Amino acid sequence: MQRRRLRERLLYFAIVPAIVFAVLVLGGIALRTTLQIEKARQQTVFDATLTLADERVDRLDKIIIAQDNVVAAHVDIANLTTIARRWLPTASRETPTVRAILVLDLSHDSRDVLAFASRAPGREDDAFRRLLLGRLFSSLNFEGNTEELRHLHQIIDQQSILISYWQRSYAGRRYLVVAWHDVPRLVHDVFPRLYRDIDRGNSRMNITDEEGRIVFGPPIKAGEFTVGRPFPTTLYNWRLQIALTSADDLGDKVERQRMVELGMVGFAAIVVLVGVMIVIFASIKERRLAALKSDFVANVSHELKTPLALVRMFGEILLADRVASEDKRRQYLQIIVSESERLTALIENVLDFAKVERGKAAYEFAPGRLEDVVSRAVDVYRYRAERDGIVVHLASAEGLPEAMIDARAMELAIINLLDNAFKYAKDGGRVDVDVVSDDGSVVVRVSDRGPGIDPEEQERIFERFVRGRRAGEQRIRGSGIGLALVKHIAESHGGSVEVKSPVTEDGKGSVFILRIPALRGEPRGGSKRLSPAPSEPDIEPEVA
Ligand code: ADP
Repeated sequence: MQRRRLRERLLYFAIVPAIVFAVLVLGGIALRTTLQIEKARQQTVFDATLTLADERVDRLDKIIIAQDNVVAAHVDIANLTTIARRWLPTASRETPTVRAILVLDLSHDSRDVLAFASRAPGREDDAFRRLLLGRLFSSLNFEGNTEELRHLHQIIDQQSILISYWQRSYAGRRYLVVAWHDVPRLVHDVFPRLYRDIDRGNSRMNITDEEGRIVFGPPIKAGEFTVGRPFPTTLYNWRLQIALTSADDLGDKVERQRMVELGMVGFAAIVVLVGVMIVIFASIKERRLAALKSDFVANVSHELKTPLALVRMFGEILLADRVASEDKRRQYLQIIVSESERLTALIENVLDFAKVERGKAAYEFAPGRLEDVVSRAVDVYRYRAERDGIVVHLASAEGLPEAMIDARAMELAIINLLDNAFKYAKDGGRVDVDVVSDDGSVVVRVSDRGPGIDPEEQERIFERFVRGRRAGEQRIRGSGIGLALVKHIAESHGGSVEVKSPVTEDGKGSVFILRIPALRGEPRGGSKRLSPAPSEPDIEPEVA
């Protein structure tokens, strides 16, 4: 017992909080993991987009540099006059975006243009030459390895200029080779080839200049998954931007996902908590029931003792032949009979209750007169009424209808009601038992003038093992199964039992009303007048 209690304590104060804590921790970890996975997924999408952008800006650089290399191959410093002849025939195929090639003499400050080859000679060539010598030259980078290929990307008068340049030395002189790239052609011919494939499906791309103006592609809304990359070496003032058009959707989806995950973790935690609570409540209930059951065993044993003691005492008196008169002898025998009947009823109570508990209670119904059953039950209490000084007044209406009853079970029910009236309402001095017909039912009313039953207890006293407050306080014997059995018997007969209390104006007494459906609607003889049962007059206490 001690160990069991210890185990239960352990359950309530250690294991349950531990389970709740573990659930919360696990829920938290699960939530964090899913959020981390989602974050990693976002990161993967972001990285993939970035890689795509890097690869595409590199591709343009490679195309331009490849053309620069072709130009370099055609420029023979030793023989500058051959440039146009060597380059122009293949220019549109090999260097489609190079508009002109120019060679400058760097050895003199005059920076003479030693050679100039243009694919479309015209006034723009002169303008370019002037621009190069006047405004661009100062921006050229001549540091470090002077033979290295370099690029200059600048906006001049709202126009983007891209030139590739490198130096050459020959015969003690230094030359500058410049390839003038046709930027509009790059935008119109090369960009579509390079970038159209990105600009469909789930992604959008565009290219913007240094001021953020779009030079190619549609406008894109800067969202969570927009990636921008400048061209590394050639059009370095421009940026390629890639955005997932579903970026907003993705954001919403992530948010929704987060809410769903959160909801699921919360729901799981609630389910587990509810489960734990149900287990706790069930175990509390189980504990209470176990306590009630053990009280029940003690109470039943105690109840058996009293009638047994009486039977034994009067049996011994009779055996010893110490009886004053024949009347007394009869009276003692009567006590023995009625106490053994009470004993039988008590044992039957317990056995029937056990059957009800196991779901094995079976009744044998037959048409019968309820008033006869009631009268027999009252008879059993004759001696007790005399002993306790209680008047039992039995009144049955005339011509009551019969009912389908199990007489034995019904008697047990009435005995239980009478027993209670005797136990709890002894001080009332009077118990009334009425049998009447009412609205198609035969109704047995057992009323007393005892202390009554508290309103909050009136419902619960019909539950098994439940005893009233007063029963406990005043140590009135009982096992708490009587009314549960009465209820079961009544309901098995298609009827009901209820209690009303108080019944008198001074707030005393209770009346138990047992209702059993009548076999015929109309009472025999049609009268409902109450009269004392002819066979059984009122039981009056014996006056000493
Ligand atoms: P028991 O009498 O063994 O306690 P019952 O199921 O017969 O069990 O009754 C349940 C409770 O109902 C009693 O403990 C008592 O508090 C209350 N009760 C029953 N009948 C009466 C009555 N006539 N007057 C007052 N209280 C009653």
